[in-house]
Amino acid sequence: MNKIICSNCRNNHTSNPIAGGLGTVFCFDCSTETEVKTGKKVFASRIHPTNPYNFSEDELFLILSLGSIILEVAEKPKKIDKIYEYLKWRDPNTKEGIGLEKEKIKIIKKRLKEGYSVAIEISKKMTEDEGSNLFNILFQILINQKDVTINETAALVEICRLTEGNWQSFMVFLSENSPFKIAEIGPAMKNINIPIENIINKQNKSTMTNSNDNKKPNIEYNTSMPTITKEKSKEIIKDDHKKETASDTKTKPQVAISATKDDNTESIVKKIVSQDSPIGVYSMFKITHPNFIVAVNFTLQIHHPEVWLVIRKAYYPTFIDKIKKFFGI
Ligand SMILES: [Zn+2]
Repeated sequence: MNKIICSNCRNNHTSNPIAGGLGTVFCFDCSTETEVKTGKKVFASRIHPTNPYNFSEDELFLILSLGSIILEVAEKPKKIDKIYEYLKWRDPNTKEGIGLEKEKIKIIKKRLKEGYSVAIEISKKMTEDEGSNLFNILFQILINQKDVTINETAALVEICRLTEGNWQSFMVFLSENSPFKIAEIGPAMKNINIPIENIINKQNKSTMTNSNDNKKPNIEYNTSMPTITKEKSKEIIKDDHKKETASDTKTKPQVAISATKDDNTESIVKKIVSQDSPIGVYSMFKITHPNFIVAVNFTLQIHHPEVWLVIRKAYYPTFIDKIKKFFGI
């Protein structure tokens, strides 16, 4: 069997993975633990019977840092103890919990000096697994609590948005698993002010080009349509076609609805909600007006949650399904 390369010193003087263990190997040269599946340098592990997980130092730093932003925004600085408790806790009998040693907590705490914008930039590079694990944990520590407030909930969605996670689905998840509805979370997101400076606007994954995009969701997004390259539009069409054939081929608008270059968020939303089966019209605008889709999604979530539920089931299932699976919902 080939030896796994150490994530720290790059030597291959490593142990074999232990059967039934955490899927990690130990380096005999530098004592580093490396996750076999991802090659990740392991900082600490949760030895949960059904959900074992290996954390990198960055991931634990993100729990503390992003959790702190949320509590700062929600004006609940004392609740940070909950985050430290989560990191420290380990059940002496079942061995559940991370049980992070004092020295390691110090390392993570020291990194808070790096600032929130650094944390956001690191979080954008997370894998999908790391992202959903991070937001699961923040949900458990901050939201799944008796004292949860609307500002904490809204700040968590806003952070998810800034990290370029699937915040729309996460918002739906939170509306179903917190005391707050989408119609409350959306406006609360507009009112909170995340204290992040100098974020470089790299958010072009969703083809939004508004320079204020990292600051606030834009409900009214009425600028003219930015140019889309041929390549890009081909990609979008291909991608959409795949999704539509996979999830929904029956639903087409009964009345012919067309997209014009004068369409804006408001008119697109009107056309979508005028249909019994909104998916066909939504798909069309997703292709013809991709730059409006984030604003359209947001407007639908707030003003037409029933239509949004149909659309997000067809288009945005991955992240929320992962979370539901994680919690066994
Ligand atoms: Zn090593």
